[in-house]
Amino acid sequence: MTQAIQASTTQTAATFSALRCKECSAEYELKAIHVCEFCFGPLEVVYDYSALRRTVTRESIQAGPNSIWRYRSFLPVASDRPIDVGTGMTPLVKTNRLARRLGLKNLYIKNDAVNMPTLSFKDRVVSVALTRARELGFTTVSCASTGNLANSTAAIAAHAGLDCCVFIPADLEAGKVLGTLIYGPTVMAVQGNYDQVNRLCSEVANTHGWGFVNINLRPYYSEGSKTLGYEVAEQLGWQLPDHIVAPLASGSLFTKIYKGFQEFIKVGLVDDKAVRFSGAQAEGCSPIAQAFREGRDFINPVKPNTVAKSIAIGNPADGVYALDVARKTNGNIESVNDAEIIDGIKLLAETEGIFTETAGGTTIAVLKKLVEAGKIDPDETTVAYITGNGLKTQEAVQGCIGEPFTIEPKLDSFERALERSQTLDRLEWQQVLV
Ligand SMILES: *Cc1c(COP(=O)(O)O)cnc(C)c1O
Repeated sequence: MTQAIQASTTQTAATFSALRCKECSAEYELKAIHVCEFCFGPLEVVYDYSALRRTVTRESIQAGPNSIWRYRSFLPVASDRPIDVGTGMTPLVKTNRLARRLGLKNLYIKNDAVNMPTLSFKDRVVSVALTRARELGFTTVSCASTGNLANSTAAIAAHAGLDCCVFIPADLEAGKVLGTLIYGPTVMAVQGNYDQVNRLCSEVANTHGWGFVNINLRPYYSEGSKTLGYEVAEQLGWQLPDHIVAPLASGSLFTKIYKGFQEFIKVGLVDDKAVRFSGAQAEGCSPIAQAFREGRDFINPVKPNTVAKSIAIGNPADGVYALDVARKTNGNIESVNDAEIIDGIKLLAETEGIFTETAGGTTIAVLKKLVEAGKIDPDETTVAYITGNGLKTQEAVQGCIGEPFTIEPKLDSFERALERSQTLDRLEWQQVLV
């Protein structure tokens, strides 16, 4: 037993060795830094893939915990005891009614609306970032957030006993704010948009020596998103899908799903396959979709104005890399307006029983748009990534859904209401038919 632990410690220590600039390949020690001193490119963790190929098997992964930590050898942490709050291994749902509605044969939903502990994909990146923060000796952790990241950082910091101060735009949905405050962090509600929050946080990171999960810890944080790729591959029976659709904010999650698939191919866990990558943005904040449409390889920053606040980043840090992934995989990047986003939320709820937030509504609406435009083939095995939970963004659908029938506690009152509801149903059908 002791030997097994030591062996796996050695293995982990050997699998990631440095940070490397994505632009000029300059290498750095594994510290809390995120930009290259020479060219200002983003830094990324370097792994020893031949060591991984020798030591990791499908069986060794399956013998691991039922969380993202079953893929620990592919994550940038040295610890044998990472912070494990049950993050990851969320359901991959084969859709039936949604697939039929859209005219697809093999459509899956990767459902991170039920991720642990805070019901969004951000629990993945934060579990990794805070484990690394602890290893690097940070006692206070922080983030610049569009909402979900603040929820995750506050919750997992509470679990790990780390001090926490988070920054959010002041106009976030009530559920996102409450879902942060409950864990007892300091919350700074900044009067400005996310890009202004982010700029402020970069200054704070320089002066306060805190671990900002998505700033100075970003190279470690972003690796957590690779698990969205690994899990889908494993859950499809160690195969890659043909096409994925995912939302884009900074573009990080999108590019890291790609990296996850590439790594599994590289170490021989799945067969090589060309997977198409399509990205989803809200029209009111679609700098990456605009660049894609116009054939540009640079991003023009925009001022966000959309109901999809969790993905409203006007100046996306990984935008150019997301563009590159979509283009080289023969995918697309599309945007949809707020009304289509709400329809997307309702469509997923009414066909599959999954209540997603605005980011998920964006993904479903873009999925529909791509199918209608013939850009997704009905036969392709397609995975749509649902990244957050609808109970956190209730404002978005208020007034766009039905209302309960208020009745007296009497049978005849119920019968009258039932009749009314059936009439309403008939009227709705008539409207559909007209
Ligand atoms: C943060 C977030 C995203 C996108 O994340 P990036 O990695 O910045 O592109 C998508 N969906 C939800 C719900 C989010 O909170």
